[in-house]
Amino acid sequence: MIKSFYPPLRTLMGPGPSDVHPRVLAAMAKPTIGHLDPAFIGMMDEVKQLLQYALRTENPLTMPVSAPGSAGMEACFVNLVEPGDKVIVCQNGVFGGRMKENVERFGGTALMVEDAWGTAVSIEKVRALMEQHDDIKALAFVHAETSTGVCSDARALCRLAQDYGCLTIVDAVTSLGGVELEVDQWGIDALYSGTQKCLSAPPGISPVTFSERALDKVRQRTSRTPSWFLDKTLVMGYWGGGQKRAYHHTAPVNTLYGLHEALVMLQEEGIENAWQRHALHHRALRDGLEAMGLQMAVAADIRLPQLNSVTIPEGVDDAQLRSQLLESYGLEIGAGLGALAGKVWRIGLMGSSCTRRHVMLCLDALENTLLEQGADIHSGRASAAAAAAYTNPEQ
Ligand SMILES: *Cc1c(COP(=O)(O)O)cnc(C)c1O
Repeated sequence: MIKSFYPPLRTLMGPGPSDVHPRVLAAMAKPTIGHLDPAFIGMMDEVKQLLQYALRTENPLTMPVSAPGSAGMEACFVNLVEPGDKVIVCQNGVFGGRMKENVERFGGTALMVEDAWGTAVSIEKVRALMEQHDDIKALAFVHAETSTGVCSDARALCRLAQDYGCLTIVDAVTSLGGVELEVDQWGIDALYSGTQKCLSAPPGISPVTFSERALDKVRQRTSRTPSWFLDKTLVMGYWGGGQKRAYHHTAPVNTLYGLHEALVMLQEEGIENAWQRHALHHRALRDGLEAMGLQMAVAADIRLPQLNSVTIPEGVDDAQLRSQLLESYGLEIGAGLGALAGKVWRIGLMGSSCTRRHVMLCLDALENTLLEQGADIHSGRASAAAAAAYTNPEQ
């Protein structure tokens, strides 16, 4: 007979999911109620308000899509791209490639702006393309590229799109909660995010927001949105209908309890404080890694604090090291993806996984495991360097 499943105890410091706080897990164990129950509808309204807080927006169309970040991505593209539309898609890692797929599958033409993995989206290349074409409908880019650990200048890209009169579609799956993100101030038109990265809620939900300009584009469509489930005009009858909410699909009730609690915790901390916390622990981790003799793979000015790409030293067996971290320390870090496979580790400091405890455990575990493999690193320096970053937090 198959028995109950008990997951092993892990510390999650990869590219997501991040550690889910016990408060969030406890919230998810609360009794399931009907998804049209007035009490549940009240909670849905709070989730919406909390998402508006986290995203710094007053967009009425701000809601969690009942599926992972990839579905939030499809929700943006399927509603906003019509056959024949030209969309500039910026690619500097894995996730921009998925945006291209989306544009093409919905009949649009993707004009690519490609930058090397590990570098940021080039504003100048985007500008040059906008100069060449006067019929661009949207600019799509990834704010925080989780595959490399690079943060692109979302504010400047949005300003550029406004100058040329096109919409912006922004992947903020990893940026939300970890680095500054201002939907209204920057003029972002459509954005999707995820719950399992810096919000540290369980995976399987994708917060999405649409500006009034984006909604106008949806209303002016000449062809029907090719997805029934993700058609914003239909979902809004459920998420935006107030007490007159109509059945659209059964919301993942308990997962939404978890998201609600994670967002309550974010609001208690204050979103700006959360950004600062990510910056602080990133500096401590970086100082520890560098004291050990390891090198950060991304230039300092475009580094994401919540996703640290570290160059794997010569002669180290990547897969063996990661499985040893998992076995001996219960610690998960991420492997390199695509062009960076085997070349870097991706160490996440996301949400509840962004604490001093996580930084110190990771440095200790990494140092010991590298030494066991005979790697040429400095032993005994990392934790002191990280500790110094905490007593001297401004550098
Ligand atoms: C994780 C991630 C996604 C996909 O989210 P899922 O929840 O895994 O579908 C998309 N974009 C970025 C930048 C991500 O980090």
